[in-house]
Amino acid sequence: MISTYLMYRNVCEQICAICQEQGVAVIIGGPYFVQPEVIKDWVRIPGLTALAAGEVELQLPSILKTLLAGGDVTLHQGMMAAGPQGEIRGEIAAPQREIDAVPYPDFSDFPWEAYPNRIIPVITGRGCGWGACTFCSDVTSTAGRTYRSRSPGNVLNEIASHYRQYQVSRFVFTDMKLNSNVEMWRSLISGTQEVAPGAQWIAAVHVGNEADTGLSESDLRAAAASGCVRLSTGLESGSQRIIDLMKKGTQLDSISAFLHNASAAGISCRCTMILGYPGETAADVHASAEFLEHHVEVIERVSLNRLQVIAGTTLHRSATRKSGRLAGFRIVSADSRTAQVEHRYDELETSSHRKAVMRLLTAVHRINIRELSPRAREFEGVM
Ligand code: SF4
Repeated sequence: MISTYLMYRNVCEQICAICQEQGVAVIIGGPYFVQPEVIKDWVRIPGLTALAAGEVELQLPSILKTLLAGGDVTLHQGMMAAGPQGEIRGEIAAPQREIDAVPYPDFSDFPWEAYPNRIIPVITGRGCGWGACTFCSDVTSTAGRTYRSRSPGNVLNEIASHYRQYQVSRFVFTDMKLNSNVEMWRSLISGTQEVAPGAQWIAAVHVGNEADTGLSESDLRAAAASGCVRLSTGLESGSQRIIDLMKKGTQLDSISAFLHNASAAGISCRCTMILGYPGETAADVHASAEFLEHHVEVIERVSLNRLQVIAGTTLHRSATRKSGRLAGFRIVSADSRTAQVEHRYDELETSSHRKAVMRLLTAVHRINIRELSPRAREFEGVM
């Protein structure tokens, strides 16, 4: 069984070829095998027995029994294979509902000695409570299609078990948006130190427009007291117009307040940003630079990325539908092996846009060369 990102296609092909020679069955799964065009392409890899499409972990024991008995695994939901005529058999598994039933990850064979410190990833829910950002491929991935939360007790028990079993007190919550379920978020804040004394943790949050996001000044002070040392959030742009085009569901003044409150509480803040969204002009990039210039003291790291268009996202679908109607923006080609969609945006080639990008890069650099606060240092490179 191989779990893979799409970028490792060539390696997967080679493994399948070797296994075919040796008569060994291969099942491949991973986070993006729920997009029909990707499935259609991958399922035909020579030597592949079946593709795991969707969340199948609770069914895995019975799938493996069928496989070992020489049966047809595509009779299990979520197992897909190419038939003798090249037809595709099987269907995508629906999102897993009983996520409290999934066993805790077993790290007993993990080579801890190869790492400078012990950090364990924990996920409290699948999907994102907002789920609307047009560019986001997390919410078109296998586990991201709908939002489902574990129960707070189940998550706190997992943290306690890792703390006891592996002497780990640093955790990274890998949820797309840890405050999707505000009850869960507040339960972690109130319960983490009880189950893992001295614990430190980091997470990503969405500073949305809901009446209660769980990110008030007092919430953030409580989060810091419970061991939160870094929060990452999607700023994406310093232009409200672009943020609205992205359907990000955030307001710049709320993000500004969040950054000031989190920083005052002692939490290191990281922002992600996107450059080159359709409709972006030099003025929008200047607005992004200006936002960073005004928040140098309260942002510790910026991750600035050129827009990537991923197959299956709302952005990809609408750019394909509106082909020729997004001024200067066009889809050039789509690769179903990797789900990467090549695009062009003429505005990026203008000298005014380039100048604005230089200003933005300078602002990003000014932030990223700063020393990290000591509390967040242990997590450098993690998120
Ligand atoms: S808030 Fe984050 S995870 Fe949720 S849809 Fe937007 S980008 Fe994706």
